[in-house]
Amino acid sequence: MTLTIKHHLDEVGLADGRLFVSGTWRQAKAGATWAHRHPATGETVGTVAVADTEDVDDAVRAARRAFDDGPWPSMRAGERMRIVRRCGDLLREHADELRSLQALDNGVPLSFGTVYAGSVDIAADAFEHHAGWIDKAGGQTLPPFQGGDHMAMTLREPIGVVAAILPWNAPFLLFAQKIAPALAAGCTVVIKPSEHATFCVLRMVELLAEAGVPDGVVNLVSGPGEPTGDALIHHPGVDKISFTGSRATGQRIVSASAEGFTRVSLELGGKSPAVVFPDADAGLAGMTAMGMVTLGLSGQACVAHTRALVHRDVYDEFVGAAEMIAGSVTYGDPFDPEVLSGPLVTEAQLEKVLGYVEQGCAAGARLVTGGERVDGELAAGNYVTPAVFADVDNRMSIAREEIFGPVLSVVPFDDEDEAVAMANDTEYGLGAGVFTRDAQRALRVSKRLRCGMVGVNGFQVEPHVPFGGYKQSGLGREGGLAAFESYTELKSVLMPL
Ligand code: NAD
Repeated sequence: MTLTIKHHLDEVGLADGRLFVSGTWRQAKAGATWAHRHPATGETVGTVAVADTEDVDDAVRAARRAFDDGPWPSMRAGERMRIVRRCGDLLREHADELRSLQALDNGVPLSFGTVYAGSVDIAADAFEHHAGWIDKAGGQTLPPFQGGDHMAMTLREPIGVVAAILPWNAPFLLFAQKIAPALAAGCTVVIKPSEHATFCVLRMVELLAEAGVPDGVVNLVSGPGEPTGDALIHHPGVDKISFTGSRATGQRIVSASAEGFTRVSLELGGKSPAVVFPDADAGLAGMTAMGMVTLGLSGQACVAHTRALVHRDVYDEFVGAAEMIAGSVTYGDPFDPEVLSGPLVTEAQLEKVLGYVEQGCAAGARLVTGGERVDGELAAGNYVTPAVFADVDNRMSIAREEIFGPVLSVVPFDDEDEAVAMANDTEYGLGAGVFTRDAQRALRVSKRLRCGMVGVNGFQVEPHVPFGGYKQSGLGREGGLAAFESYTELKSVLMPL
């Protein structure tokens, strides 16, 4: 397989990953680097600078200066709005280039970059959306509770310096869902992209600077969790850590935040169920669920319906549709526009997925299709064929744990109460799907599900709709006003008149 994109990386000057501190691109002071191996071929396609404690300190101090002394938090609303909107415009204008960089980074195929949730458009829309709050989201005035003649009011003030730590799987959306509201609220940021998806984030940061974001307002430190992420989450100059990634890293962040009571928001993993009732279009449900666990990210998506709870009356139809999708998805070179699904991000992730397939078989689930490492010309990449497990018991590990690969586990049920109980019987609570033609049932079941987002007969991510989870799927929400407000502190001002 040929990765022609490498030349493009040279052209845009990103061949050597760099840090962005106070408006200047530079290498890590100690000169450490990370060789980025492409998930489709295993070859090294670029070098990422690894920021250590000193580099991280420089970046946090730059963000602090820009917050305390710089023009950003006190800038005229109209001017800040124009700059945040311009960020969105420039991302949109460079969509093709960014999609290519993403394919180079994480192996997500170009085709997925045209699906709204995986596109640069959704990132651009998030900047546009949040620019709109700048002159609208404010505090309140409150009537005196104890009578008398005094006034109480609340003010919304930017929270300060934000550390934004990103995963590798959906860099456009997740970059924008953090950086757009943080900038709109008047915060300054230090971004740490995933070591597996750095180049497209470097380019987005470059575009933000071009859009007029002042020096020091957006900084970037690249490198892996250790040492870079670790130095950032323990830095006393950070006021808020906004994190998307695994539950294990989320736990470390919560521990680190206890040192200085740093504000934290977390978007973590999931084991989102699709609940399919007997009156549903079971074919559509099977195609939707299997599409979410195969197309584009190859199941490496936090909200994917990886667990399907299906009424026995439509069970076979659902499994048949899922099997059909599994058999028709094309995977291979992410730069081939015909390819619909990508490789797993690392060899370790591939081994983990194959391990779950083994566990499912050993536990007695029926492997309908897939679950094998792909050999032949794709053998050097981390490819696994999409797997459908039927006759799954909700207590099996393949129904309980986040696999983060193309594996769908289908569990049968007999009535609504049983389905709801199984859907909620998980430590996660990110998303869910309800498939039915009965509107009352759709709303009743949506209310009963203990999770942050429910899709009825389909699921879509939108930049203005809150996104986040219950239970161990996270803390706080991205998207919409809730996200903007999460980058502010609320101050009360009381005054006798
Ligand atoms: P990860 O936790 O391994 O890494 C996420 C980020 O944290 C990376 O930038 C990584 O370098 C950094 N990191 C790792 N160790 C760290 C440490 N000790 N200190 C500070 N930073 C550290 O997760 P991943 O593999 O990149 O992403 C997959 C996970 O993300 C899955 O669990 C998935 O469900 C979750 N995810 C959630 C959402 C959501 O919105 N809820 C969206 C996408 C992905």
